[in-house]
Amino acid sequence: MFNLDKLLRDNIRALVPYSSARDEFQGEAKVFIDANENSLGSPLTRWYNRYPDPHQWKVKEAVGKIKGIGPEHIFMGNGSDECIDLLYRAFCVPGKDNVIINPPTYGMYEVSAHINDVEVRRAVLLDDFQLDLVHLETLVDEHTKLIWICSPNNPTANSMKRQDIEVILNNFPGLVVIDEAYINFSRHRSFIQELSDYPNLVVLQTMSKAWGLAGLRVGMAFASEAIIEVYNKVKPPYNISQATQELALKALDEVGQVNDMIRSLVELRERLSLELSALPVVITVYPSDANFLLVKTENARGIYEHLLREGIVVRDRSKVELCEGCLRITVGTEKENADLLKSLSAYEPKAHRPSGQT
Ligand SMILES: *Cc1c(COP(=O)(O)O)cnc(C)c1O
Repeated sequence: MFNLDKLLRDNIRALVPYSSARDEFQGEAKVFIDANENSLGSPLTRWYNRYPDPHQWKVKEAVGKIKGIGPEHIFMGNGSDECIDLLYRAFCVPGKDNVIINPPTYGMYEVSAHINDVEVRRAVLLDDFQLDLVHLETLVDEHTKLIWICSPNNPTANSMKRQDIEVILNNFPGLVVIDEAYINFSRHRSFIQELSDYPNLVVLQTMSKAWGLAGLRVGMAFASEAIIEVYNKVKPPYNISQATQELALKALDEVGQVNDMIRSLVELRERLSLELSALPVVITVYPSDANFLLVKTENARGIYEHLLREGIVVRDRSKVELCEGCLRITVGTEKENADLLKSLSAYEPKAHRPSGQT
């Protein structure tokens, strides 16, 4: 049923990828004068005058050890955003193919589709923020190439039911992309271990959240070797810089420290959730599998502006479908959360004055 070759755009199937100097010669040598680098060095350390490993093998080995998967199943992008964009470029014919998203969800799936002139079909989540499989099925046609599933989902913070995702994986002949940017904060298992069962599965993760490295721009895609080969064919040759590779490698050595942060953030999240729930302006704090909370309030815009005046920035999601009245609040430090709660307790909705009265 699943045929990767058929799914590819014709121009990508026929593409002869760029061959870099480091693709054409790998190994040890006395003199490297094959890549037009600056042989004298650079104002920084000597190392940076050389092009980086185009396939980031050391970083992939380290990631693979942590995730329990071989490096040939890993693609690294300049943030998840690059992992997202390259799927459109490899699989979706502009003006002809379409993809399905499940809103409210992460905005880049749609923006990237628009950049690539690809139609976006929307299977809005059910009231409990779960996938609407019945609606989703009606949107699929022969030009549907990708289905985007964000789990845990941004901004609703919940995980999608595993069984629902499996139904899609088992029945959709295109690619199913599961964005697990927040998986480390969740009790649910990653789908990475399921890759051998599903040739149509792509799992996205990132170093921007649990790893605390949003500034480095490191996204990861996990998939079959065949899909990773497609990624490698279309990616810019040196998409992860030498500095980024070195820093990522250093961070990956500190998995224990990251696990400690994850535990702390989950603890802080649960405490913040309880404390927010007790506030009169808060209607609901939705359960969260992420490092943020979706909070339904009496007056999202008013509270948002009040917090801004206090120097606290949250995300106003109240205009987003299913998120009326909602603010999205990232779990802060203990002190930041305390400041937030203090400011929220001080919020007074403007006293309602019936018209005609002075
Ligand atoms: C934050 C986030 C990402 C991370 O994007 P990067 O480009 O890797 O920083 C990916 N997906 C979702 C749903 C996110 O919320």
